Amino acid sequence: MKTIGEALDEMLRAFAPRGEVSLPLLDARGLVTSSAVIAQHDLPHFDNSAMDGYAVRTDDVASAGTTLPVIGESRAGGPWPAPLQLRSAMRIFTGAPMPVDADAVIIQESATASAAQVTFSVSAKPWANVRRRGSDMVSGAVCIPERTILEAGEIGMLAGQAFADVRVFRRPRVAIVSTGDELRDVGERLTPGTLFNSNSHALAAAVESVGATAWVLPIARDTAESIADTLRKAFEADVVLCCGGVSVGDYDLVGTTLTQLGVATHFHKVAMKPGKPLLFATRGDVPFIGLPGNPVSSWVGFEIFVRPCLRRMLGHTRVHPRVVDVLLSHAHQRSTGRIELARARFTLSDDTIEASLISQQGSGSLPSMVGVDGLVILPADQGQFAAGDRLPALVLHETRGQLRSAFV
Ligand code: AMP
Ligand code: MG
Repeated sequence: MKTIGEALDEMLRAFAPRGEVSLPLLDARGLVTSSAVIAQHDLPHFDNSAMDGYAVRTDDVASAGTTLPVIGESRAGGPWPAPLQLRSAMRIFTGAPMPVDADAVIIQESATASAAQVTFSVSAKPWANVRRRGSDMVSGAVCIPERTILEAGEIGMLAGQAFADVRVFRRPRVAIVSTGDELRDVGERLTPGTLFNSNSHALAAAVESVGATAWVLPIARDTAESIADTLRKAFEADVVLCCGGVSVGDYDLVGTTLTQLGVATHFHKVAMKPGKPLLFATRGDVPFIGLPGNPVSSWVGFEIFVRPCLRRMLGHTRVHPRVVDVLLSHAHQRSTGRIELARARFTLSDDTIEASLISQQGSGSLPSMVGVDGLVILPADQGQFAAGDRLPALVLHETRGQLRSAFV
C-alpha cells in the first residue's frame, strides 16, 4: 500500500497546466499568470506632485524666508500647466503635473500665502515631493512575473498599465461523478434506504474553491453499464473525480469498469484514515481519481490529494497546504495502524494554536464536516494522546481568520 507522500507524488506528476487563456482582469482573480506581463507605460506616466503645495525652482528658493509671487495653478486632471515663470511659484496639488522648469514642491504646511504671493519657511531641495516619471516602473520592465497569483494588488497593477485582459493558465474542467443506487438528488423524495447525494455538492464546492470549474454529471448507478456510460462522458473533461464504488464490495464496480474501458489504474489504496480506498488512474493525459463514497473520506481525500494536484494544474508553484504545529486541547485515544487526518477546530491562544478534535471522527458523519479549520496529523503508531501534545496540522481555511485583532 502506498503512503500518502508516495501517492501524492505520483499523482502530482499527472497534473501539468492545460494551456493558457486571456481573461478579463476580474475573471482572472485567483488564477496564475502563464507568462510575464511587460509594462507598456512608465509609472508614474509624468512628473507630478506628491503633496499639496507650491511648485518652484530650487535655485529660486535657496534659503528659508524666500517670498515669491504665485502665478498659475496645476491640479490633477486640470489643464496642462504653463511652464513655471522665472522667480515665481505655482500652486500645485497632489497628483498634478509639474510645470516645465519646476524641480521641487514645497508643501503648503511650510508656506504662508498672502494675496498673490507666498513665503516659504524652508529652502527647496531638488525633486523634493515630486514623483518622477518612471520612478516606480519603466516601460519594458516586468510588471507581473510569470506564475504570479492574481489578487487585488496584481489586478490593480495590471489596470494601472491599461491591461483589460491577462494571460493565465486556464481553469481545468473537473467532471464529478457520484455512484450509488441509494443516492437521490437534492430536491427528489427519499424512499426507504436512500439518501441525498451530498458528495457531488461538496466536491463541486471544493473544486471551485481551487479555481477550477466543476462539471457535475448525473448520478451513476451501481452497474458496469451505467458507470461506463457516465465515465465515457466524464473523460471529456480535464480531470475526472469519481466517488463511491471504489472499495471491495460486490457493487464497487468502478475499478473493473475502468479496466474494461482500457483505463490504466496506477494504485487503488493509500495507507491513511479516513479514505484508504483511493484509486488513481489516467486515460491519455486525463487523470482519474476515485474517492471513497463516505462523505468525510471523499472530502478529506480531496483536501489531501486533489487540491494540491488541481493547484499544480492551475499553475501554482506552491501547491501544498500550510502546515502548523498545534497543541491538543484534550486527551485522545484511538486504534493505531494508519496515519489519521483528524478534523479539528482551532483556537488561537497567545502564540499557540489549540486544536480540539471533532468528537465524531467517523467517516460517514456529515455534521462532523461543519466548521472544520484543519486536519491534525495523528502518526500511524501512536494511539494515546494527552492534552498539550504538539502535533502537525494542515490548515484548511485561512479565510476563517483569527479571534483577536493584531491592533488591539
Ligand atoms: P461506497 O464507497 O460506494 O461503498 O459508499 C460508502 C458510503 O458512502 C455509503 O454509505 C454510501 O451511501 C455513501 N455515499 C456514497 N456516495 C455518496 C454521495 N455521493 N453522497 C453521500 N453519500 C454517499
Ligand atoms: Mg456505493
